Amino acid sequence: MQLKTILNFVQPFKSFVYKNVRFMEDESGQPVEIEIDIEPRKNSRAACSGCGKAWPGYDHERTPRRFEFVPLWGLAVFFVYTMRRVDCPTCGVKVERVPWCEGKSRLTTAFRWFLAKWAKRLSWRETAVAFRTSWENVFRSVKMAVSWGLEHRSLEGIEAIGVDEIQWQKGHRYLTLVYQIEDGLKRLLYVAKDRTEESLREFFTSLGEEAKGSIRFVCSDMWQAYLNVIAEQVGHAIHILDRFHIMKKMNEGIDAVRREEAGKLKRDGYEPVLKNSRWCLLKRRENLTEKQTVKLTELLQYNLKSVRSHLMREDFQRFWEYVSPGWAGKFLDEWCSRTMRSRIEPMQKVARSLREHRDLILNWFRARGTVSGGAVEGLNNKTKLTIRKAYGFRTYQAVEIALYHTIGDLPEPEFTHEFC
Ligand SMILES: [Zn+2]
Repeated sequence: MQLKTILNFVQPFKSFVYKNVRFMEDESGQPVEIEIDIEPRKNSRAACSGCGKAWPGYDHERTPRRFEFVPLWGLAVFFVYTMRRVDCPTCGVKVERVPWCEGKSRLTTAFRWFLAKWAKRLSWRETAVAFRTSWENVFRSVKMAVSWGLEHRSLEGIEAIGVDEIQWQKGHRYLTLVYQIEDGLKRLLYVAKDRTEESLREFFTSLGEEAKGSIRFVCSDMWQAYLNVIAEQVGHAIHILDRFHIMKKMNEGIDAVRREEAGKLKRDGYEPVLKNSRWCLLKRRENLTEKQTVKLTELLQYNLKSVRSHLMREDFQRFWEYVSPGWAGKFLDEWCSRTMRSRIEPMQKVARSLREHRDLILNWFRARGTVSGGAVEGLNNKTKLTIRKAYGFRTYQAVEIALYHTIGDLPEPEFTHEFC
C-alpha cells in the first residue's frame, strides 16, 4: 500500500491530488520528515480566499509553501503546494483558498485539531515536545479549537448555574467563573477577570433574555457584587448560597482564629502546639490520619479557641442533613445564637453573615434534587488543577483559553477521519 492511498483515505480532497512523496533528511543523512507534493486536479478552478467563489487561475506564487500535517511514526509530515492566485471581480487579485488549512496558518486544520485534542490529555508543553512542535503552535491550535467550540455550543435550556471566584495569581487577583451544574451536564460556561459586578453582568448580557429565562437555580457564595448582579439579572430564579461556599467561609473563620491564637501563644511563651496543625483542624475527623488524630487529642487538652471553633464547625455539619427548610432554619438560628455567645470574633463574623443570608442559605433545601450537590466544588477543583498545571501561562488570555478547553465541554467538528 502506498502512503498516497492512506492519505486519500484519511484526508481526501475533491479538487486536489497527492503527488510525489519523499523523505527529507537531516545533516547526518537521517530521514526526519516526509514531504508530500499536492497539485490541483486538472481543469479545476481556484477558490478566491476573499469570497470563496471559484475563478480561472491568474498566476501562481513563485515558491511552494509547506503546511505541517499530522506526524506519522515519529516523522514530521508536510504538504508542499504552490498557491495559485485568482483575479476575483469582487475582491481583486487574491491568493486561493485551500481545503487543508485556514487563513494564513502553516499548520493544517487536521494537525491543529490533533494538537488541540492532545492538549486536553497532556500539558501544552508536553504536547509540543511529544509532537515535535512549538508551544506557540499548541497554544494557537487550542485557541482555534476554543473559538470554534464557543461559536458552536448551545446555551439553551440551562436550568442551574453556579457562580464562583478563584484566585489565580499572587496579590489578590481573581477570576469570576460561571458553571452549569445540572446532573449529567457540568461544564464551565464563562470566565472573566476580577470579581466585580461588571465581571459577572457580562455573562448574563451575552446569554440573552431567552436563555436567562430558563435559569431556575443559581448557586453562589456571599460576595456582595455577585449577590447584587444575580438579583438584578435573574431575580426569577431561586438563589442558593451553597454548601461548598458556606463551609469554605467557615474554614476561613477557623483559620483566622488559629492564626490569631498561634501568635498569642507564642508571645506568651507557650509551646507552639498550633504550628502545622492547620490541616488537622480543617479536616473532618473521619478523614484524619492517625498521626493527625494524636495531634488533635493533644490540642484538645487545651481549652483553645481554635478547638472550640473546630467543634462548632463539626456541629454545623448536622445542618446539611435536614430535609425540611423549616427545621433546618431552626437549627441555623440556634447555631448562630450559640456562636454569638462564644466570644470568638472570627466565628461570630461567620454567624452574622449566615444570619444575614438566612433565606438564601435555606434555599439549599428548597432546591434539593435539582442542583447537583458537590458540583461547584468538583468544578472548582478542576479549575484549580488547570490553573496549577498551566504554570507556563503568564497571560490572562492563556488561562481563559485553557479553562474553556479543559472544562468547557465544547463541541468539535466532525471529520472524515479521527486522527486521535
Ligand atoms: Zn473574491
